[in-house]
Order: sequence, then C-alpha cells, then structure tokens
Amino acid sequence: MLLSFFETLHEGVRRFHPPEDRPVRLYVCGPTVYDRAHVGHARTYLYFDIVRRFLEAEGRRVRHVMNVTDFEDKITARAAALGVPWRTLARREEKNFFLQLDRLGLERATAAPRASDFVPEMIRAIRRLEKMRLVERSEGTLVYAPPRNVCHRNFPVGHALGPHLVPEPGAPPPPEDGTASAFVLWRPQPPGAPSWASPWGRGAPGWHLECYAMADQLLGLPVDLHGGGADLVFPHHFTENEVALTLDGSLFSRSFLHLPFVTQDGQKMAKSTGNLVPLADALDEGGADAVRWYLLGTSSTERLDWQPAGFAQAARSSRWVHATLAGAVPNGAGGSLAVTELRTVRRGVAHDIADRLGVDRAIGRLEAYAKRIDSRANGHYPKGSRREVLQELGAIDRMLGTTLAPSAGPATRGRARRSN
Ligand SMILES: [Zn+2]
Repeated sequence: MLLSFFETLHEGVRRFHPPEDRPVRLYVCGPTVYDRAHVGHARTYLYFDIVRRFLEAEGRRVRHVMNVTDFEDKITARAAALGVPWRTLARREEKNFFLQLDRLGLERATAAPRASDFVPEMIRAIRRLEKMRLVERSEGTLVYAPPRNVCHRNFPVGHALGPHLVPEPGAPPPPEDGTASAFVLWRPQPPGAPSWASPWGRGAPGWHLECYAMADQLLGLPVDLHGGGADLVFPHHFTENEVALTLDGSLFSRSFLHLPFVTQDGQKMAKSTGNLVPLADALDEGGADAVRWYLLGTSSTERLDWQPAGFAQAARSSRWVHATLAGAVPNGAGGSLAVTELRTVRRGVAHDIADRLGVDRAIGRLEAYAKRIDSRANGHYPKGSRREVLQELGAIDRMLGTTLAPSAGPATRGRARRSN
C-alpha cells in the first residue's frame, strides 16, 4: 500500500514511493536543545513516527535521521543566563527531550547526530561554495550569495502554499521569484559562545548548513522524505534546498512533509513567547496514549488548538477504547473480540493512514469499533482465538504506537542508538 500526504514541494496530495532497492531515507529536522519539549514538537514528531511505522509495517527498512541542534544563539543566551557552559545545557536538554519522546512511545531515530560533531563537514561545504564564487565576506562573516541560475527550481512560492508557508518569526517574507536569499554561512562568535577554528578564523557555521551536512553525510542526497514543523518551510528548508541544488545539482529531498502548528488560544506554541504546554506536563496528566489520541485526533493538514477540555475528553476516550478492547480479548470465560472483524479494523486503520495520513480517521474507526463491542448483548461471544486477536491488536499498536494489546507496553521498537 502506498502512503499519500499533502506534499509541500508539489503543493498537493501525492503518493510517496521511495526507491525500493535500499532503505527509505527519512530526515526530520530535530530540536534546538535549550528548553523543554512542548506538545507542538510532539505532534510533528508523532506524525513522522506514524510514517515510519507505516513504512516498516509495509516491510520497508527506514533509515531515520533526526539532528540535534546543540549550538545556537538561544542555547548560548540561556546557558549564560543560567551560568553554565553551553554544552552542559545542551546535553541536559537533549537528554530530557529524548526522555519525553521515549515516554510518548516514539521510535528513536536510527541516528540523532549533534550539529557540533559536523562542523568540519559544514566547513567543507562552505569551501566548495567559495570555489564556486558564491560566498561574500564582510568583517569575518561569510554570506551565501545565491546564484541566479538556480532560481525557480526551489520551493514554489505561491497562493496554494500560502497557509503552509509560515516564515520564522523575524524572517523576511519569501521572495516572489522563488530564489533563496542570502544567509550566513560562517560568523565570528562572542566570547563564551561556541566556536571552532576555520580558514576564516574562529567562529561558527550558520544553522541552515547543518542539515545539509548531516543529511549528505549520513543518508546521501537527495533524501526521500524531509520535513518538520510548518515554520521550517521558509527559510530553513528553502535554504537547505538551495545549497543542495548548488552543490549536488539535485533537490535536498524528493518530498517534503510539514505539520501545522499546535496553537493555544489561536497563538502558535513557542518557547520564545512562553505560550506552550510542556510535553512532560501533558504526559504526567494524561499518559502517552491520551497525548497521542489528542495530538493525532485532528487532520494532519490542520492546526490543532490545544484545549484542556479537549485533551481531557481525548484522554477519557483513549482510556475507554483501550479498556473496552482489552476487556473483550477472548479468555477462558468469554471475550467478544472476533479475529475476522478485528482484521478488517486493522486493514481499515492502515488504509486511513495511507490515505493522506488520516490518523484522525483511524482513531475514529477504533472509537466506533469499541462502541460496537460495548453495545453487544451479553452472552454474544463470537468465536475467536486469543492468540490471533492479540496479534491483530499488536499490529494496530505497531502502526499507531498505542497499547491496545493488553500487557504489551508501549509499542516502541529498539532503544536509543546514537550515530556518534
Ligand atoms: Zn533542518
């Protein structure tokens, strides 16, 4: 079964068919580790988790890279405010970030490289751009000067992309001709900020280069699927693409998936404004299944406005569905789950996901099925084998990351593996 979703590059619903002769290359822009993960991050990573689970259920191997931005101005500033070295803060927040994602039952990325380990690769990329005369230098700062000949091959900038094209706060609006604008490749750093030796003196590479260097090194370009939150479309992914086009002659990625924001009172959740719900708090309050239920219960193309009452309702629903299905697994005394109908539900869930990442529809399907089971007359026990029923529930769990199969625990495969 082929997966489809709203694909940013083509501005429409597209089927995803990565080459079959090698593992799928999935590159997800990861966290800047300076503060707690919030539910907006969680929703984005949950959708990539669903994509990966779906591909794996279809028998594909997935090489999933999620970078960790461990040096950046916000990290430097917070570390200075706390009076700790930037690396200490970054490692602590990275550990905490992955701990919360583990609690949520996300499969760990195959590799979670740190930006600070890829500075030599970024320097090499700058040198190549320099040889191509695409670098301008002013007082120690190196800026990318976009070549004219790659214009119009970048992200489409237009009407249809409008709602999906959300510039970063403070970033200039996307240029109308579809070209990237200049951006910093290398710059000197103030004392106390992370810096490395380079042919241009001590300093640090610009953020946009990071994903290019890591994806090129760890996966090979183009990757099959790349994405993150909607705010990364421009300028970050726009810029990565520009660098890939210039240095590799190909797009950074064959397809792009961007997830709309989680808002609160209509405002984007962001660390910078303090308008956020920490993932740890949501997990403490409702547990992993409830957080999944709520964050995935809205279409993947729509924003989700986080409402405490909505979350409480989703938590109740999730608990009830889990308990109803678990309570109906055949045992010696009865049990009304029949393997044939459960198989139909499992196939339906797979179809829902394949059809535009309709996890919200899959959740609705499970709720409707639990209602049907619950309303069955007492004593109506279709014949079912406990083992087969558990297998079917386990298969649904592996797709959705739920814990419907009793005593299965979170359907997470494998522990952390770092690339370095
Ligand atoms: Zn990135």
